[in-house]
Amino acid sequence: MIKDTGAVDAASILFNLDDYRVLSVEASSTAGRTVVVEPISTEAGCPSCGVLSSRIQARPVHRVKDVACGGKDLQVWVRKRRLACLEDACKRRSFVQCTEQLPLRSRLTTRLVGEIVDAGMNELRAVTGIARATGVSWPTVMRKLTATEKTVGDVDGRHVRWLGVDEHRFRKVRYVLGTTGKVMRVEPWSIVFTDLETGTILDVVDGRRGPTGNAKSSVAVPE
Ligand SMILES: [Zn+2]
Repeated sequence: MIKDTGAVDAASILFNLDDYRVLSVEASSTAGRTVVVEPISTEAGCPSCGVLSSRIQARPVHRVKDVACGGKDLQVWVRKRRLACLEDACKRRSFVQCTEQLPLRSRLTTRLVGEIVDAGMNELRAVTGIARATGVSWPTVMRKLTATEKTVGDVDGRHVRWLGVDEHRFRKVRYVLGTTGKVMRVEPWSIVFTDLETGTILDVVDGRRGPTGNAKSSVAVPE
């Protein structure tokens, strides 16, 4: 889904990763194409105390896996921000800014995880084929599929500190077997709830006709 992120340069619009802007793009005959992106927002809330900070301590750069973008030879690097917590009473001295597309410590974008889960649970494709098509390892595909199967429909008792809410376009209607044994129908336009600390997909609900408010309240969010 295309959202207005405020970015106006052509590369950011083409890359279309929510909440990120493209800093640079390079192409070489040996390494292929490389893109460097950074979060658009310059401030973020401390995950422990919630106080907003924009005081930068470091700018670590990490490589992440993403969906195909104009071919398979695209390397994606993210220039993150490690921000200092400005609250004296808070025990956390610093934290890394995270977003819905790149939860904490995640090496895969949420849109790529969505593609993997979609392929594994909807199309009944072999894990090896999904791994090849998405450019990630076989164990990573299995881990994402297993984590989603375990948690979909069983989120009531889960403690979630950072909740990500993202609209995802699945290719067609799909059916997910919840841990309670009940089969749930998932509409093509769905809202995906993600635990931003682990990258685990918690729940998938109908984004067009489903009771969105009720679905949100089914995820355990601390006061
Ligand atoms: Zn803090």
